[in-house]
This record gives sequence, C-alpha cells and structure tokens, in this order.
Amino acid sequence: MSFEFVVETKQGEELLDITERVTGLVREHGKDRKVCQVFVPHTTAGITINEHADPDVKSDLLLAMRKVVPFLREYRHVEGNSPSHVKASLTGSSVSVPVDDGRLLLGTWQGIFLAEFDGPRRRTVIVTLV
Ligand code: ZN
Repeated sequence: MSFEFVVETKQGEELLDITERVTGLVREHGKDRKVCQVFVPHTTAGITINEHADPDVKSDLLLAMRKVVPFLREYRHVEGNSPSHVKASLTGSSVSVPVDDGRLLLGTWQGIFLAEFDGPRRRTVIVTLV
C-alpha cells in the first residue's frame, strides 16, 4: 500500500525532517508490514537518513554538499541548476527502513529528511509499506 503527502520547502537548500509524517503512516497502516520505503519523484531533491537531534548536523551536511559539488562553468544543462541535480543523485531518491509491529526501526538519533537542493518548491513524498 502506498501513501503520498506534499511538503513545501522554504529555502534554496534545506533538510526537512519528515520523520513524524512517516512514523504516523507506519503506526496507522504498518501493523503487518516489514519495510517502509520513502521515495521522492524529483530530480533536484532527495531522501536521506541522518541525525535529527542536533540541527547543526543538517547545516554541516548541506555545507559539505556545497563543497563537494561546486558550480562549474563547464556544466551544459541549460536550466543552470546542474549542482542541484548532482546533489540529488548523490543523496538518492529513496530510503528503506525496517518495520516491526507498526514501528519504524530507526536508530535513536536517526531521522528521515527530504533533501531540497533547488527550492523553495512543493515536493511530493511517496511512502510504500511492503
Ligand atoms: Zn534542471
């Protein structure tokens, strides 16, 4: 079974914590399910899991991404947002998390983030319980 929700990102680049939204769906519909897949159908946004206790981790990840993926004059994509596409590919467009008895088996410090690299935009998140 699949569910969809929309989030509005507010900045050009940000990590938006969607853990609560996903946890709620799993609690309500995931009793007999074993895997939760979270996917974004976008080419300049991704999905990642990392620490959501200290907000500085989010800004450090974005800082590192900017250092790893600078803007290059040699990029050919006419839209001008090639770094956003590269960052989205490095992040990946989905994660899978094991589920037990309606509970996501995330680690204590782990959260699920939508990684925006070309915002602000409306982004769709698709959650599939398997
Ligand atoms: Zn583009």
